[in-house]
Amino acid sequence: MEFSDVENDIAEILYTEQEIHEKIAELSRRIEVDYAGEKVLLVGVLRGAVMVMADLARELTIPIEMDWMAVSSYGSGTQSSGVVRILKDLDTDLHGRHVLIVEDIIDSGLTLSWLRGNLETRGAASVEICALLRKPEAAKVQVDVKYEGFQIPNAFVVGYGLDFAEQYRNLRGIAVLAPHVYA
Ligand code: 5GP
Ligand code: MG
Ligand code: MG
Repeated sequence: MEFSDVENDIAEILYTEQEIHEKIAELSRRIEVDYAGEKVLLVGVLRGAVMVMADLARELTIPIEMDWMAVSSYGSGTQSSGVVRILKDLDTDLHGRHVLIVEDIIDSGLTLSWLRGNLETRGAASVEICALLRKPEAAKVQVDVKYEGFQIPNAFVVGYGLDFAEQYRNLRGIAVLAPHVYA
């Protein structure tokens, strides 16, 4: 795909690379204070959280470990159902660990609410959530997100790890897709 095609597919840029970088730095400073003296286990949710994880991990000045999970929500079409299947589980034993789930975006909240509950049953000392984006208007369940980047309107966004049909993950900013892409 040519770069010119990508530009044509975008309706609006919500956040630039620089704005995302500044937000991640801001969240990192809070995380460093809250986890001072601890070693935090960052749990990235594949695949959307790859960019957030890479930037957050490198911004943090405290000791961290990284692990990954892949989950899929059963449901009709694009709607999350809340019934979640683990496609790839963690390799790490969570007993006594301070777990920080790293997510790209919270939409209905169903996936993350299930995931947090699942990780809490594994003996972790604490489980918190860091999500770069959240759509408050789309919430079906309340999820307590300790580290939240930006609240966005209820639109479908791509870039910085977020895809539409596996494309656009490599855009450096976060953008709203143009309607013609869905058609
Ligand atoms: P939830 O269970 O909160 O409804 O689903 C969250 C997941 O749906 C996210 O991790 C992400 O994979 C996907 N998702 C929700 N909203 C968007 C969006 O605006 N753009 C993209 N690319 N994915 C989204
Ligand atoms: Mg995600
Ligand atoms: Mg996706």
